[in-house]
Amino acid sequence: MTSLYVHVPFCPTLCPYCDFHVVRRGPGWVEAYLKRLREEAALLHARYPHPLKTLYLGGGTPSYLRDRELVALFQALPWSLAEGAEVTLEANPGTLNPARLRLLKELGVNRLSLGVQSFQEGVLRFLGRAHGRKGALRAVEMALEAGFRVSLDLILGLPMQEVEKDLKEAASLGVGHVSAYTLQVEEGTPFALLGLKEDPEREAWTMERAEAILGEAGLERYEVSNFARKGEEAQHNLVYWRAGFWLALGPAATGQYPGEGPAYALRRTNPPLPRWLAGEAPKEEAISPLEHAKESLMLGLRLKEGVNLAEVEARSGLSLFPLLRGKAQELAEAGLLQLEGTRLRPTPKTFSLLHPVILALWEALEDHAGPG
Ligand code: SF4
Repeated sequence: MTSLYVHVPFCPTLCPYCDFHVVRRGPGWVEAYLKRLREEAALLHARYPHPLKTLYLGGGTPSYLRDRELVALFQALPWSLAEGAEVTLEANPGTLNPARLRLLKELGVNRLSLGVQSFQEGVLRFLGRAHGRKGALRAVEMALEAGFRVSLDLILGLPMQEVEKDLKEAASLGVGHVSAYTLQVEEGTPFALLGLKEDPEREAWTMERAEAILGEAGLERYEVSNFARKGEEAQHNLVYWRAGFWLALGPAATGQYPGEGPAYALRRTNPPLPRWLAGEAPKEEAISPLEHAKESLMLGLRLKEGVNLAEVEARSGLSLFPLLRGKAQELAEAGLLQLEGTRLRPTPKTFSLLHPVILALWEALEDHAGPG
């Protein structure tokens, strides 16, 4: 247990496509949040005191907190950091300035995940973002100058967006990491109510262009939506994609802990802010060895490195290879998987057909082991 996610739910404006747990700050809310966070962190630390290799402050917009609030947040976390630990903070471009960046450095942050989304004014307005093109460019420049590892978030494939222009701009800035997502229209968000629709064909073209343009600049597609220079991969997110364990704090945050008895893992999800502040316990879900194997396939095939079935077998206690061999060979013959020893890897075709590939492997598992 050497990774910790902290959810900071506050945002200056609520973007119309967002379905994260976010709120605008009301009087006294941040103080109450910090107090509860301190209590929750002390309890979790008593049980899992190991130095952290990755710490991720996400949200929400953690950088929207005021200086003294950020200091209090870091003081609320009793863990020490392992040597070379990755400490990421999600930030909106408008919340950064040189003094703020100095403070973040002093607090131990060494990686910024910048919610840029686009460099085009029309797209940023459409997305309801608080920053414009100039603000986005300035934030990236300042963060790089201050010596942070920088990851850019992009949203691609909007109706009025010149996708290749945004990709070329992102590729030219010298950042080490880009997360590029196509617009997902989540049920209940204002975009869904406006009748916006996802377009799978355009999404596939968009991600192919992202792979080509970012790849030319040395940012390799190491996960279906993530691109990095060598050594700049998001270590914290790799814990999720490798179906590992991590601690979590804050409202609506989900952590995954070693299971007890027949459960391989225990997933704990905190309630939303008001109930979390009132001290309500997290919801617990036991993850069976078979569920863990299915999740390992689903997440592992998002990664270029793929998934090592021998490792999943060792963790879950299930004999996967005999169950999956036939289906994996069939998919490999269709060019949708690579089989290298005990490792299953995606091919260039897999990323655009990830769901059917995963479903086919899951069915092969369930045929033998039964659902669940
Ligand atoms: S800034 Fe990010 S977390 Fe906040 S509302 Fe917008 S998309 Fe959601």
